Order: sequence, then structure tokens, then C-alpha cells
Amino acid sequence: MKRTLSLRSRMMLLFAAVVGVLLAACTLASYALLAHQARAQLDKELLETAAPVAADLAPGPEEQDVNEMKIPNQYFELLDPTRRVLQHSGNLAKGPLEIGPEPIDPLHNQFRTLYESPYGKLRVVLVPFAQAGSTRLLVIAMSTRRVDQVLVLYRDAVWIFLPLSLLITALLSAWYVGRSLRPLADLTDRASAMADRVTSAGSAAGKPLWSPLPAAMTSDEIGRLTQTFNRLAERVEAALTQLRQFVTDASHQLRTPLTVLHGETELALAEPRSPESYRNTLRLLEDELSKLSRMVEGLFTLSMADAGQLRLACNPLYLDEVLEDSCLLVTPLAQARGITLERHLVRDVPYRGDEVFLRQLFLIFLDNALKYSPPESVITVQLEKQDGKLRASFSDQGPGIGPEHLPHIFKRFFRVPRLGADESHSGGLGLAIAEAIAHCQGGVIECQSAPGLGSTFTVTLPFETGPEPGQAPPEKTSPARHTTAAERGI
Ligand code: ADP
Repeated sequence: MKRTLSLRSRMMLLFAAVVGVLLAACTLASYALLAHQARAQLDKELLETAAPVAADLAPGPEEQDVNEMKIPNQYFELLDPTRRVLQHSGNLAKGPLEIGPEPIDPLHNQFRTLYESPYGKLRVVLVPFAQAGSTRLLVIAMSTRRVDQVLVLYRDAVWIFLPLSLLITALLSAWYVGRSLRPLADLTDRASAMADRVTSAGSAAGKPLWSPLPAAMTSDEIGRLTQTFNRLAERVEAALTQLRQFVTDASHQLRTPLTVLHGETELALAEPRSPESYRNTLRLLEDELSKLSRMVEGLFTLSMADAGQLRLACNPLYLDEVLEDSCLLVTPLAQARGITLERHLVRDVPYRGDEVFLRQLFLIFLDNALKYSPPESVITVQLEKQDGKLRASFSDQGPGIGPEHLPHIFKRFFRVPRLGADESHSGGLGLAIAEAIAHCQGGVIECQSAPGLGSTFTVTLPFETGPEPGQAPPEKTSPARHTTAAERGI
């Protein structure tokens, strides 16, 4: 990876550069303004000094006012049009003011700056006036030292304050940016530790993947990012735990029938047997194999649902007919155990859905009801339309489910521990598959149950999925139809 400056350093440099450029521009502008104002003030002073002197000199050519003047830092000369010095102030001992070779405007005041006069740097005003019919030029010069000193002082202050401001800006921005980014650094550390733990044995050993950050510190972008990270990590952790649990449970569940298959095959091969004994072994093997394939089929359905790939067909059908079919499929089993299957179904309920999956869904509840009902009891199946929804419910008079188990029954491989229950056919996947199918069909499942009072499972499906306008519902078919083992993969 290309090595770059840290974000903190880059932001610090950016702030310092922006502030530096702005400060420099402001300083230059204010320096130019100050210099202009100071010179304008000096020019004004020169004019104010010149005006009364010129007024005094104008009426009397014999006046020697200028010669008598001796004001510190102010120099006076009276010139004729040929630049001959007629009078000059007493402090011009080092020689006349050299006003330069530039032409003189006899009508207007002019300002000049003499940079290298014997009296230092001077600002000069040339004031032409008439004296007894002749043109005279009053020259007044003042030292620019005061103005220059102010400007030098300003420049010196700028040289101190500008770098100082830049330093303070850089330090403050580095501190502030560093403080603001600290949670990000923390997040990065934790995310990288989490990335390590996802694959390492650490998390498998029960260490949490992520220790949540205090998210309520701020409501700004960083605070929101922290909350999002906490949520993300929580979900990753839950998904990972679920995945690990699923793999562990699946392998555990698959191991039992495989062990039986292995054991029975070994036993059959150990010594010659009678055809009847081989037949019995093959029947057992077939039983275990069908259990295995049901479980694999169920796991496949669930993994497709997890990946959002469980694609259900959307065909027009009659829901009551699919339910009736499912009931007929389990009727022989119910009759064998003396269980009565009561049906209260609204008739001719057009619906759009996947017939195979819907039958599988209903069979899961019917199989469970049969499995857990005592002999000679009643199972009631109802189908009703209510508030624009379809409700199919399955009630049995079985042992019921305790409130401590109810929240878990839809989890994969969960089984209510029950003494003396025959769970040999139970894969613990039925309700998880039912829930996945119901969700895909846009529905929900509820369970009402209490120990000793039986159980009622209700599937609620949205009703707006009837046949599309102009499309006739399907022909009514004969009630009983067979489903494949895969269709009944429970
Ligand atoms: P299983 O294959 O074990 O029936 P399910 O996912 O279908 O798996 O059901 C999970 C657990 O919920 C079952 O082990 C059982 O203890 C309980 N259960 C489901 N349906 C009923 C019911 N009708 N009566 C009592 N308990 C039930």
C-alpha cells in the first residue's frame, strides 16, 4: 500500500495552509491600506503647513519668512521658476533640497518623495503661487521617518504574529482532529481484532467478537458510525454463532442415521443371513436413508431461504383445496391412531402461491399435531378469511409446549425435551422450514400452547394474492394427490 501521511497530519497541514494563505492575504491588504493612509496623512500635513506660509509670502516679495523658519524635521525652500533658491529654512545647512529634474507644473500642487537627500528620506510638496506677478514655488519637505517607523513596526508584528498564528492553528487543528478521530482509531483496532477473531479459535472458544463501543457519546457522524459498527458487529456475531450452531447441529443430526446405516450394513455383511433377515435390514436402511434425505432436503430449503434464494412459484390455486389435500394425505395415519381430523374450511379460496411449498407447510403442522397428539383425540383444522387475511390453524389435544420452550420452537434442531416421547422421526427442522416458507409467502406463524392444554399453530397469509384480473382460477381437481418425499421433506 502506498505510504501516505496520516489523515490527522493532512488535515492539520490543510488547515494551516488555508489559514496561512488567508492571513497573508489579509495582512498584505491591511499593510497596503495602512501605508496608503499614513502617506495620505503626511501629505495632508504638508498641505496644511504650506497653505498659511504661501498665503503669508504671496503679498510681500521682500518678506524673509522662510529664511527665519527652523522647525525640526520640516524643511522649507522658496524657488523661482528656474528652480533658483530664493529663501530656505535655517535647518537646510547641508545644502538645498534636490527636488529632481522632473518638470514642474506651475498650476497645481505636486508631491514627491526624495529617497536619498542629505536629510534622509523626505516627502515633499511643491506649492506654486504668485508673488507680485511672478511665479514662485514653495517647497516643503518632511521626514517620512514617523510613517516608516509605523510601517516597520507593523511588519515586525506581522512577522511575529503570522507564524505564531499558523503554529497555534496547526496545534489546535492537530489536537481537535486527533480527538475527533480517536473513536475511528478505536473502531479500526476493534474491527481488525474482530477480523482476526472471526477466523481464529478465539471466538469459537466463546470470546465475544466485538466489545461494543459507547455509542451515545455524540450524535455526530462518528457517533452514528460507532452505532452502525456496533449493530453490524452484533449481526455478524449472531450470524456467525447461528452458522456455527447450524453446522454443529446438522453434522450431529446427520451422524446418527449414518452410524445406524454403517452399523446395520456391517452387521448384515458379517455373516450369511436368511432372506427375511436381509429384507428386514434393507427396510431399516431404507427408513434411515429416507430420514437422511428428508433432513438434507430440509437443510437445503433452509440454506436457500437464508441466502434469499427460496423462489416460490406464484400460481393461481385454491388454498382450501391444498389444505384439504394435505389433510387427506395424513388421514390414514390419523385413522390408524384413532385420531379424528375435523376440518372447518371456507371453500373456494382463490390464492396465488406455490402449491408444493404450501402443502409442505401444512403437512409440517399436521405431522406435528399427529406426532404429539394422544390416540383417540381430535385435531381441528380451520381455514378462514379475516381482515383481508387468510388464517389456517391446526389445533391438537397434545401435551402442549411450556412457556419456557415456546420462544425456541422455530429454531433449527430445537426439540422440547419430553420424557417418553417418540422423537425418532423428528428432525427438529419442521417449524424452522415452516417459518421460512411462510415468510417467503409473505405470512407469519403464531403458536398458542400451554402444557396439558394442547397447541394451536396459526399461519396467516396475505390475501391480496388471488388470481390476477382476467385470469381464471384453476380448475378444481380431485381431492387426494400424492406428494413426493421431497415435498414432505420435514
Ligand atoms: P420436530 O421434527 O422435532 O417436530 P419441529 O421443528 O417441527 O421439529 O418442532 C420443534 C419442537 O416443537 C418439537 O420437537 C416439539 O417438541 C415441539 N412441537 C411442535 N409441534 C408441536 C405440537 N403440535 N405439540 C407439541 N409440541 C410440538
